[in-house]
Amino acid sequence: MVRAERVCKNFGALRVLKGITLEVRRGEVMCLIGPSGSGKSTFLRCINHLEQVNAGRLYVDGDLVGYEEKKGKLYELHPRVAARQRRDIGMVFQHFNLFPHRTAIENVIEAPTQVKKLPKAKAITRAKELLDRVGLADKADTYPAQLSGGQQQRVAIARALAMDPKLMLFDEPTSALDPELVGEVLGVMRELAADGMTMVVVTHEMGFAREVADQLVFMDGGVVVEAGVPREILSNPQHERTQAFLSRIL
Ligand code: ADP
Ligand code: MG
Repeated sequence: MVRAERVCKNFGALRVLKGITLEVRRGEVMCLIGPSGSGKSTFLRCINHLEQVNAGRLYVDGDLVGYEEKKGKLYELHPRVAARQRRDIGMVFQHFNLFPHRTAIENVIEAPTQVKKLPKAKAITRAKELLDRVGLADKADTYPAQLSGGQQQRVAIARALAMDPKLMLFDEPTSALDPELVGEVLGVMRELAADGMTMVVVTHEMGFAREVADQLVFMDGGVVVEAGVPREILSNPQHERTQAFLSRIL
């Protein structure tokens, strides 16, 4: 579903991603960890067409992200084609990013009706199912300000799912939550994973990584330092930098 081959990303002279190579198979969950500034968000943003890679190749479901290849040469992807590819990728952010002047259900139907031109009645039926799935059937008509952080994040997940994505990206989805609200969001993500969703999750919730992730990737300084089965990495990190990082957060 995702294949990165020596992906590099610079911001001017700042080299942020310095050759990321990894692969996420369909139905797999990858957790991405690493110190602040190591390039985790930038990597997710590259997958989601929010940043263009400068070198290397990044594929989502076989499509080269940001470029098209013709006769061995790369051309920037037409914005319309990029937008179409992006629709199939759901993203959930640390700060929820809900529309504050729309109710929960209005947030969920926004993209399907505006982008996919789904009839409103159909979008509402589906949105109700999704809100039910994240445990918020009774909050459909509530505005974000009246919801807890955990509830807002669950609406954000329902909103991303409303586009029927084939891949879900999570960028520290529980980092802004009070500790007692983390579990409800991780619970929804756990169910999503059990249902077979392909997910890339930036998180420092090591319990989640250990139980749910198929792969754990430790990034530092724009490179993958160590990657493998979560249980093995967590109990027996091979690299000194991984050991140092884990001892700080565990
Ligand atoms: P992480 O998510 O691992 O904390 P980020 O991907 O957010 O790391 O950032 C990696 C580095 O890239 C940081 O030094 C950050 O300041 C820099 N960076 C991120 N986005 C931009 C941008 N749009 N312009 C310039 N520098 C950026
Ligand atoms: Mg980040």
